[in-house]
Amino acid sequence: MEASILKEFLETIERLVREELVPAEEETIASDRVSERIRGLLRDLGLYGMTVPEEYGGLGMTSAEEVEVLFRLCFASVAYRNLLGTNNGVGSGALLAVGSAEQKQKYLPEIAAGRIVTAFAITENDSGSDASSLRTQARKVEGGWQINGVKRFITNAPEAQLFTVLARSSERPGASGISAFLVERNTPGISIGSPEKKMGQQGSHVADVILSDVFVSDSSMLGGEGEGLKLAMRLVNRGRLTIAAASVGVAERALHEALQYAIQRRQFGSRIADFQLVQALLADSRAEIAAAKALVRETAGRHSAGEDIQLDASCAKMFASEMAGRVADRAVQIHGGMGYMVGTVAERLYRDARLFRIYEGTTQIQQITIAKQMLRQLG
Ligand SMILES: Cc1cc2nc3c(=O)[nH]c(=O)nc-3n(C[C@H](O)[C@H](O)[C@H](O)COP(=O)(O)OP(=O)(O)OC[C@H]3O[C@@H](n4cnc5c(N)ncnc54)[C@H](O)[C@@H]3O)c2cc1C
Repeated sequence: MEASILKEFLETIERLVREELVPAEEETIASDRVSERIRGLLRDLGLYGMTVPEEYGGLGMTSAEEVEVLFRLCFASVAYRNLLGTNNGVGSGALLAVGSAEQKQKYLPEIAAGRIVTAFAITENDSGSDASSLRTQARKVEGGWQINGVKRFITNAPEAQLFTVLARSSERPGASGISAFLVERNTPGISIGSPEKKMGQQGSHVADVILSDVFVSDSSMLGGEGEGLKLAMRLVNRGRLTIAAASVGVAERALHEALQYAIQRRQFGSRIADFQLVQALLADSRAEIAAAKALVRETAGRHSAGEDIQLDASCAKMFASEMAGRVADRAVQIHGGMGYMVGTVAERLYRDARLFRIYEGTTQIQQITIAKQMLRQLG
């Protein structure tokens, strides 16, 4: 995207956040739903297809451009970004990476326009961090595959029309026996569990996806047989970068709320913002946000240039998500007792930020990845 167009687009996002998304937050959280009006605004700006190439109706943004949008968008409730996350991530990324020309033509324009919401289903009851142990079965039958299994914690499952499901398609153990399948919501045998009651991030939903004798044709396989997990791993770096960028956005908001509170709250005859111990909390947060932002920007730039960023994507995801937790915690502290009250923005952000350390690879999984990469580089 040309620099001047990107600048204008980012200003539009800032306006959308200020004038529409932040004012709509309370309703989104209370109703646990992003309204049709807001969905329409997100669609009109092309946000469901930020990373989809222009030839399929998307905005064709690079990672470096996408993270700039996410820094700004996630100043407002992350429920808005969650709606778009999979369409811009693995939902379109997997199709672009290994989809057939037919699959791309059929789905990518719908994904980019936000006419369909996508979900990516790997996790199961007994298979989380160790995705290679998943048990959902895809059995070869005449003309296609029959899928049976239960996927857990699938983001956007209640609203998605297209699922990418990872299932075991051969007797081969571990990752090499796993394939990816495109499964449309209206396929007989697929049902969605009740949305989970989550700690935070109200307005977006996770639920079980239950597959019971679901038949999909041969052409529904995405990529080669046995290459499903490899595909997910290929796309994970960009996913980690987007969570890191979202963490920065949430942290920026937490600091904004803390600062606003600190200049209006008075104790001992002064604004609490004038106490140096409170200033230290604010300053630490400012510096940590700046560090995370720089790391995300630098890593996204290298990803856009085609470099291998596996180690740095893990560093960015780990550092930014842990940083958002610390910044949100300080925001609660600065609000004092008020920060502990349900309904304050600081309290909500504290809960919302907690997820970033868990999905898209927990902090411990990032540590393992970083250490492995360092040792590999030593030879
Ligand atoms: C809100 C939400 C949305 C989600 N969305 C999706 C989605 O859209 N699609 C999807 O497929 N999944 C999704 N997930 C699942 C998510 O990816 C998993 O929860 C995550 O990967 C962790 O797996 P787990 O919950 O089974 O934890 P576990 O893997 O059981 O981990 C439990 C603890 O053990 C630690 N641990 C595990 N292995 C190791 C190890 N080798 N060394 C050290 N520590 C280890 C972990 O770090 C963690 O602290 C979502 C989860 C949530 C909560």
